[in-house]
Amino acid sequence: MHAQLLVYISIIAISGVFNLYLFAYVFHKRHFYKSISTYFLAYIFAIIIYCFGSVFSLMSTNIIELKFWTAVMYLGLPFASPLGLLFVTKYLAIKLKRGYIIYMLTIPTISSILVATNDMHHLYYRRLEIDPVLGAPYFLQEIGIWYLVQGILTFGCMLAAFILLASHYKEMSEQYKPQIIALMFGHLVPMFTGFIYLLGLTPRGIDPVPMVIWISSLLCLWAINSSQLFKIMPVAKDVIFNSINDAVMVLDESLRLVEINQACKIQFPGVNHSILGTNINKIWNDLFNIPFTLKIGITEASIKLNEEKVYQVRMSMLDPLRNINGYLVIFTDITEIKRLQALLEYQAYYDELTQIYNRRAFLQQCELDLADSQKKGAPFAIVLMDVDHFKKVNDIYGHHIGDQLLEHIVTICKLYLTNGEVFARYGGEEFVFSLTDYTTAKAEALANMIRDHIKKTPMITSEGEIGITLSLGIAEAERGVGETVSSLLNKADKALYQAKRTGRNKVNVYCQGNVVI
Ligand code: GH3
Ligand code: MG
Ligand code: MG
Repeated sequence: MHAQLLVYISIIAISGVFNLYLFAYVFHKRHFYKSISTYFLAYIFAIIIYCFGSVFSLMSTNIIELKFWTAVMYLGLPFASPLGLLFVTKYLAIKLKRGYIIYMLTIPTISSILVATNDMHHLYYRRLEIDPVLGAPYFLQEIGIWYLVQGILTFGCMLAAFILLASHYKEMSEQYKPQIIALMFGHLVPMFTGFIYLLGLTPRGIDPVPMVIWISSLLCLWAINSSQLFKIMPVAKDVIFNSINDAVMVLDESLRLVEINQACKIQFPGVNHSILGTNINKIWNDLFNIPFTLKIGITEASIKLNEEKVYQVRMSMLDPLRNINGYLVIFTDITEIKRLQALLEYQAYYDELTQIYNRRAFLQQCELDLADSQKKGAPFAIVLMDVDHFKKVNDIYGHHIGDQLLEHIVTICKLYLTNGEVFARYGGEEFVFSLTDYTTAKAEALANMIRDHIKKTPMITSEGEIGITLSLGIAEAERGVGETVSSLLNKADKALYQAKRTGRNKVNVYCQGNVVI
């Protein structure tokens, strides 16, 4: 064998073995490299087949062997540059549609088949024969139509990878720039040597690319290895992204959904990876039945899902500093907070036992109603109501029966609240009414109806019937004297006191003259 040929074969074989080593190394450590390892391994695998196919084709002694090893070589060669491009897109975190990937790998697949079956159609090589002067393994070839197609794809992919890298160079942070340069150089090497081959500057039939392709593989590996980007951080980021309770949607600058986390899938049925690429307007409408109105600046909104869930939604720019345009939409489930908030609000204003207003709520409402009445010059009255000898009920029947009696009284009182009267538990066994548009006479009539009803309606308990009476004190707001809720309550209290003093089971109206202080 020609000494020079032996050198070529040796170099290519070493390149193949080296790539094999890289393959084994990355395969062994693939868990550290996240999904990029799959692309890298596929790329290297294609190169290994390319190299060894090339080695054996250069060792061929006749046309049959040459064709066989060429066919073997073409199981790897046509895939190398598309897989290299895929590797670069993955490295740059560019999402490619499945269709593109399939398309990129279809041409190489056809090339492999066409080379293996070339004798039947001559679409790849119109002519392939041993060089009559130099002998095997040098050969003469006339390229077919598909050779051109594959050639365009090969150079196109390498060029595209190179351009992609170059265009991302600027926006990459300083620490990743050397890696980008390495990858660019890694794509330039086979492009350049391939070009030399095409120009016919290498000995006939000798493809120099497998000799230098190890440089590319090595640079690619270094680019991955030296950037934390593809090691622990993406894994960590993925884990954080998917383990947080907040649902997160990532949108691109055209408001299309590009990524969702686990919580998003769980909380919003129908939102899964199959709808990636859909515009958020449609997703929003499907989910919440409202148009998507969030904007940067309007960062918060409460939205309801199925009347059951309430979310606080925030929308923010993805990373304006690094010029990565896109948006984050984060949903915090505030259903429980809202429920507790409503419960607390309720508890702050309602009496636990009777479920009517408590003193705080009463005072707030009464202030408003009194002010309103004063503005309109309308009458306004307050009625204080106290259960007579209630302590005895507790003492004889027990506290729980006392509680039931309070509820019994409230149930009856509510029958008379038809015109927006405010009714509250003022404390213990004392109740209060604030009566807008009630004159003293009207208030007195109401009070007597209630008193009478309660008197005639004993509560039926397991311990027997318990009859009870009420004492009520009434005060009407005097106009033009700056009456306040406090002064009115004071007057009503005095009237009530008088009712107690004069025998209970009574309604007494405050009147300056007849009150015993
Ligand atoms: P008077 O006719 O003078 O109003 O006599 P009274 O016994 O009703 O009045 P007093 O102020 O002496 O007693 C009120 C009692 O009401 C004392 C207290 O234990 C009872 N009480 C206060 N709040 C509750 C409650 O929520 N449930 C029960 N069961 N009893 C209560
Ligand atoms: Mg009392
Ligand atoms: Mg009492």
